[in-house]
Amino acid sequence: MISVQIQTAAYLFAGILFILSLGGLSSQESAKRGVLYGMAGMLIAILSTVLGEGVQGYTYIIVAIVIASFIGIIVARKVEMTSMPQLVAILHSFVGLAAVLVGFGSYLDPHTQTLVGTEHTIHLVEVFIGVFIGAITFTGSIIAWGKLDGKIRSKPLVYPGRHVVNIILVIIAVVLGVLFTQATGTEGMIYLYGMTAIASYIGIMLVMAIGGADMPVVVSMLNSYSGWAAAAAGFMLGNDLLIVTGALVGSSGAILSIIMCEAMNRSFLSVIFGGFGATPIAAGDEDIEGEVTATTHEELAELLEEANSIVIVPGYGMAVAKAQYPIHDMVKTLQDQGKKVVFAIHPVAGRLPGHMNVLLAEANVSYDIVLEMDEVNDDLPNVDVVMVIGANDIVNPGAETDKSSPIYGMPVIQVWNARQVIVMKRSMATGYAGVQNPLFFKDNTDMLYGDAKDSIDKINMALKS
Ligand code: NDP
Repeated sequence: MISVQIQTAAYLFAGILFILSLGGLSSQESAKRGVLYGMAGMLIAILSTVLGEGVQGYTYIIVAIVIASFIGIIVARKVEMTSMPQLVAILHSFVGLAAVLVGFGSYLDPHTQTLVGTEHTIHLVEVFIGVFIGAITFTGSIIAWGKLDGKIRSKPLVYPGRHVVNIILVIIAVVLGVLFTQATGTEGMIYLYGMTAIASYIGIMLVMAIGGADMPVVVSMLNSYSGWAAAAAGFMLGNDLLIVTGALVGSSGAILSIIMCEAMNRSFLSVIFGGFGATPIAAGDEDIEGEVTATTHEELAELLEEANSIVIVPGYGMAVAKAQYPIHDMVKTLQDQGKKVVFAIHPVAGRLPGHMNVLLAEANVSYDIVLEMDEVNDDLPNVDVVMVIGANDIVNPGAETDKSSPIYGMPVIQVWNARQVIVMKRSMATGYAGVQNPLFFKDNTDMLYGDAKDSIDKINMALKS
């Protein structure tokens, strides 16, 4: 058992570690250190809370920690990099559910009934808001998980007048809130249940209304919501560390959402209010001219031998194929031949913010040749060969020209400006946004069909022979 003073000092220390952790995660070089800070902070936070005054039921706590750690280790070891976004989404839903349950528990806690006057009202408001944010985060994250996992269709589900319905629901929730704060004893539970149902519905509809290509913003937005849900739980439990940590996650998630919105040329408000202003669209109905031409591994190897500057644009297919390792070998061979090779990373490539950077770092690709979209776009007319590896939406010229496309307005990597483009994928299938890609039909583009890893292995063999 530790004293309140030691607990406060431990909380302060853990809070500093969390801030250092976030700072570390902002660049690839320091990311590992950031994760270690975060782990240390979390260990200190859990120990100082569990050993704090007034905590009982250690048997239950230890059993819960052992079972949860066991599940966590198994899930983290088993999960494929391609399924990481789904895992993140479902973990956000747990935070939301925890905030809802803490809210119910806190309201029913006999101690709450002993509070009087303003203190009582403030606590009830904390409970009500905490459960509201928690329920939206819970159901919204489950829908996001379903969309990312392909269990729910990724097209936006919008119906006329949905914003009016949402506003009416929020007004009803506010009325329930007023009744809740005026109820005596635990009679307010009925209002709390009513509001939870409304918030759960709003969470579902907010994420259902978001289209495929806007999902990256939803993931970071739900990350932010989960932070605010945790902060709300901190208020209900009177736990300062939970408030600080929740606020850190909430605000950093909000900043990430704004950055993602800017990268995708979307209005932040339209995304947080769920497809605000989005009208149902006919997906990419622009007429596409030109013919699709295919190439072979040997021809591509020859093209690479002749090229001086090469840009590689990786996408979700690289993650699926786990092609980053042979790509690293290929880059080394090409660099040894004196060629300039760089990677161009789109902010929403893959299925998770920073997805491509993580995979390339995993394969030991040097950070200094991994460039952002904006650092590459202007130079593309001087590039000899662009290899698009398992990417589709992020190199779709229709995002610039086709107003009917769901990705219209999203900045893309303008690979078609290079001298020659090779697109490596298994078929003519569409990407996440479900739109056809006019790039494949351009004169300077050839398709190299097949699994990305198999193709790169073959190119490596051809380059070495
Ligand atoms: P896309 O989903 O647009 O395209 C990926 C392409 O990879 C597919 O067309 C597929 O074609 C190909 N592919 C799949 N498996 C393989 C394989 N084994 N070998 C070779 N190719 C393969 O991915 P992008 O990275 O271009 O774009 C990301 C999309 O995901 C954007 O629409 C973005 O908005 C969305 N998104 C991004 C998130 C993020 O945070 N980054 C989160 C959620 C969604 P084929 O089947 O023919 O092989």
